[in-house]
Amino acid sequence: MNVADSELVESILIDMGYKKSKDINCADAIFVNTCAIREHAEDKVFSQLGRYEIIKKKRPSVLIGVLGCMAQSLKDELLEKRPYVDVILGPDSYRRLPSLLNRNSNQANSKVDTRLSRFEVYDDLFPTRNYGINAWVSIMRGCDKFCTFCIVPFTRGRERSRSITSICDEIKNAIGHGFKEITLLGQNVNSYNYEQFKFHQLLEIIAQIDGVHRIRYTSPHPQDITSDLLDVMKNHNNICNYIHLPLQSGSNRILKRMNRSYSKEHYLNLANEIKIALPDVGISTDIIVGFPGETEDDFEETLEVMKDIKFDSAFNFKYSSRRGTKAAEYDNQISEEIKKERLIKVIELQKQHTLENNLKLVGTNQTVLVEKESKKSKTKWSGRTDSNKWVVFDKRNTKLKDIVRVKINEARGVTLHGELIQKSEIAA
Ligand code: SAH
Ligand code: SF4
Repeated sequence: MNVADSELVESILIDMGYKKSKDINCADAIFVNTCAIREHAEDKVFSQLGRYEIIKKKRPSVLIGVLGCMAQSLKDELLEKRPYVDVILGPDSYRRLPSLLNRNSNQANSKVDTRLSRFEVYDDLFPTRNYGINAWVSIMRGCDKFCTFCIVPFTRGRERSRSITSICDEIKNAIGHGFKEITLLGQNVNSYNYEQFKFHQLLEIIAQIDGVHRIRYTSPHPQDITSDLLDVMKNHNNICNYIHLPLQSGSNRILKRMNRSYSKEHYLNLANEIKIALPDVGISTDIIVGFPGETEDDFEETLEVMKDIKFDSAFNFKYSSRRGTKAAEYDNQISEEIKKERLIKVIELQKQHTLENNLKLVGTNQTVLVEKESKKSKTKWSGRTDSNKWVVFDKRNTKLKDIVRVKINEARGVTLHGELIQKSEIAA
């Protein structure tokens, strides 16, 4: 979401006549687009700001801006402790950039705008995109779910959806610029609701746009995954066979304390339903360990759900207390040591499952979009299967953005290795 928002900000700045600088030491303005989801993300921004302070000391005319979620949640702290920051804008205030950058209008207070909007979806602003393979397209903003651990509803405000026309126009524009894959974005992407049009209806419309080779979406909430959605995914080949299904915890007691609105049983049934409706589907998840009050038994239940479903991949996090959220006030906060131990356990278990699932693909043929050069070899490409698994293979006569068939020969770590199937072999 931040990559997409940064592209939006970039297009506002380009409209004002600014140009992207390759060298931070020559830039007239430096912006950092921030994330407040966990303490770790905030720490990274603070150390980045330390670097900007040195630049500002050398060149006081440079303008420093803090954008996004931290601007929203840590406005006072930034104002007090980082006086060299010139502009602070929350995620709904990017339109204010032109007036804030106009130095003549720089009165006291005018450098901060963190008001949240019930309506802002930047409908008419298309991000700057000249070259690329995957285009991030924001379809909704905000979140109304209020999970007790999460700061998003506070930093990004209420849920609101963007118009279908504007989404489709942006997608057509991206396709016109040669993009192959579209990833629909939202804090709760499948809560999309625009004039009674639901997410599965939007997805079906997008799947029919000429030239859209691949569609992904993130991040959905298990509560809003419907059988209509699975039907649409099944009926359209260009919607990738992949679902991110954030679990958070496998214990009903913890799910309740998290306000996750589903039970372990509902989640397990849903995963089963998905696997039946979409054969060979890739499923990933998000897991939080060490939520306040999580006992060894609760944690064991999370491991049990993992063993039951065998996710293809997982984003695992230690619970991070966020000021202003309900869970930050809960008793029984878990020690850092236990969180670390539990994190290591889920990571280890997930590694086994990823390898186990990947090994099953050895010998199969997969459709892969050529996305980038392999980090380890200049003679190899790296790209993802429909089900979101990375595959490395010899380049031969193919180029970036090609969609190719690859025979999988090996599964190592989290990556698959394969070889191109020549067109003649496919025909045969
Ligand atoms: N809307 C999506 C998730 C968006 S946030 C959903 O509800 O599923 C992405 C992930 O960050 C979450 O799924 C959660 O696992 C993690 N996360 C959010 N707040 C966190 C916190 N306070 N500590 C640790 N992880 C957190
Ligand atoms: Fe945060 Fe996702 Fe819960 Fe919304 S649904 S509060 S974004 S974790």
